[in-house]
Amino acid sequence: MLDIGLPASPEQFAAATWDDIAPYYDRLAAAPLEREDVEGWMASWSRLEELVGEAGTLAMTAYTGNTADVVSEAAYLRFSTEIFPLMEERQAGLARRLLETGWSRPDVEVMLQQFRVNVELFREENVPLFSELEGLDAGYQKLTGGLWVEWEGERKTIPQLQPFLKSPDRAVRERAFRLGMEAYLAERAPLADLFDRMYGLRQRIAANAGFPNYEQYTFAAKHRFDYTPADVAGFHDAVEQAVVPAVGRILEHRRAQLGLDTLRPWDLGVDPAGAAALQPFTTVDEFVGGARRIFASVDRELGDQFRTMADEGLLDLESRGGKAPGGYCTTLPFRGRPFVFMNAVGVPDDVNTLVHEAGHCFHAFLAHRQPYLWQRGTGSEAAELASMSMEMLAMPHLQAPAGYYADEDVRRAWIEHLEDVLMALPHIASVDAFQSWIYTSGEGHDRDARDRAWLAIRQRFEPHVDWSDLDQERVARWYRQLHIFQYPFYYIEYGIAQLGALQVWRNSMADYTSTINSYKTALALGGTRPLPEIYRAAGATLVFDAATMAELVDLVERRIEQLREPVGG
Ligand SMILES: [Zn+2]
Repeated sequence: MLDIGLPASPEQFAAATWDDIAPYYDRLAAAPLEREDVEGWMASWSRLEELVGEAGTLAMTAYTGNTADVVSEAAYLRFSTEIFPLMEERQAGLARRLLETGWSRPDVEVMLQQFRVNVELFREENVPLFSELEGLDAGYQKLTGGLWVEWEGERKTIPQLQPFLKSPDRAVRERAFRLGMEAYLAERAPLADLFDRMYGLRQRIAANAGFPNYEQYTFAAKHRFDYTPADVAGFHDAVEQAVVPAVGRILEHRRAQLGLDTLRPWDLGVDPAGAAALQPFTTVDEFVGGARRIFASVDRELGDQFRTMADEGLLDLESRGGKAPGGYCTTLPFRGRPFVFMNAVGVPDDVNTLVHEAGHCFHAFLAHRQPYLWQRGTGSEAAELASMSMEMLAMPHLQAPAGYYADEDVRRAWIEHLEDVLMALPHIASVDAFQSWIYTSGEGHDRDARDRAWLAIRQRFEPHVDWSDLDQERVARWYRQLHIFQYPFYYIEYGIAQLGALQVWRNSMADYTSTINSYKTALALGGTRPLPEIYRAAGATLVFDAATMAELVDLVERRIEQLREPVGG
């Protein structure tokens, strides 16, 4: 390793400002760099990024764990708004130097390809446009985070309406649904203004970088080297052909069970058998204890990794005052440890979330074996394969005594999960098809055209729900989809990964142990191989075609039907 005087641990960067960090980049930039120096130079650069990255991550976990703590808030903001953006600029310069040496070896080819694209896409004139977009992101959060409705004399946020959407009383569900959508509709003009500006900035960024539109720019910027916009359009068609009819059958079953003439959008959340909600656990100790046993039954090595997280205080799971909302899995890149944050309250979604995030954690543990930081990360297609496959692989172990559920409940949890898997795919296709339309149709700047296009796309992918007289409410749905505003084109990855996870699940029913071993092999590759090879290592392929999709959908439907049969019947 090249000696640039790095500190021994991230704690020494905890209070750092950019002035404390810049000298290390200066030393890397000034160090002689011939091909034979590269590995030592790369090791130092990677270590520097690990140290600063971990210091910033620790600031974030401290802040989200207690948003009232002004010291960690200041540290978090210093890293996220000052240090990290400046690091990105320096990274581009160092990557350019590295590429000029012509150095390569098999395990860094993907990393170098990504560096090359980053350097090619970089435009000085886009830097201020990106920071303008960042500012607009905050505007979206502000507009939507502040929404509230009045519910029986009480002020409630939109997420707080969730339990009422599951009420057995249809009138209550309808009222909660309408109130939630009306809150967004009331902000339609400012949200459309905001989106107009985002649209304009994104198309300019693409044009500055030499692309005809923002979709094509995004495929390059997101390093989608292994599939094209045409493949994704094929994915949309395949969902329409193979998934939408299956969702129709699930919804028909639900409609009959509920004894309704048609399913309105507020009839989708209630338990169709009228059963009370599942209660997997009551205390966080039970929650963690169950998870320890579940992952130990999945695999000894993965079980040990989860135990390490519990023992080392890397799980912040319980909901408590002052915590930020939501959940995430992040990585402490220096220690090679993941960290899970969530707000568990004892509902089945908490179990799903923890199992999902644990898949990301196992990925972080296994990929940490790769020498350089940039070799460990993957795109979301591979990252979500790790987490969504774990949702399927852990399912057989959710049963008591190791897991949380009695026999009958585990059947219900399975059915709910499998139905969610199928119902998510048309939603994913519509969100992605809509964004493709926005940036390629030439009409994406027109707010009324956008709303009309959404309605048409939605009808294509969601024909089985009765939305009559609810066009405006249906339009409101896209304004609620924060990805369209804040993470453009980040959605199809979930669909690709879900179809990968279904293949992993299929393999596991034939041979569980060898499927787990392939899963671990794929995760340990980190980002060192092209995406199709990572999938192949896990025992899966990238699916864009209707025939393969139909086989997987059929498997899910048959399993749902089996699970519906009463025990002993
Ligand atoms: Zn995830």
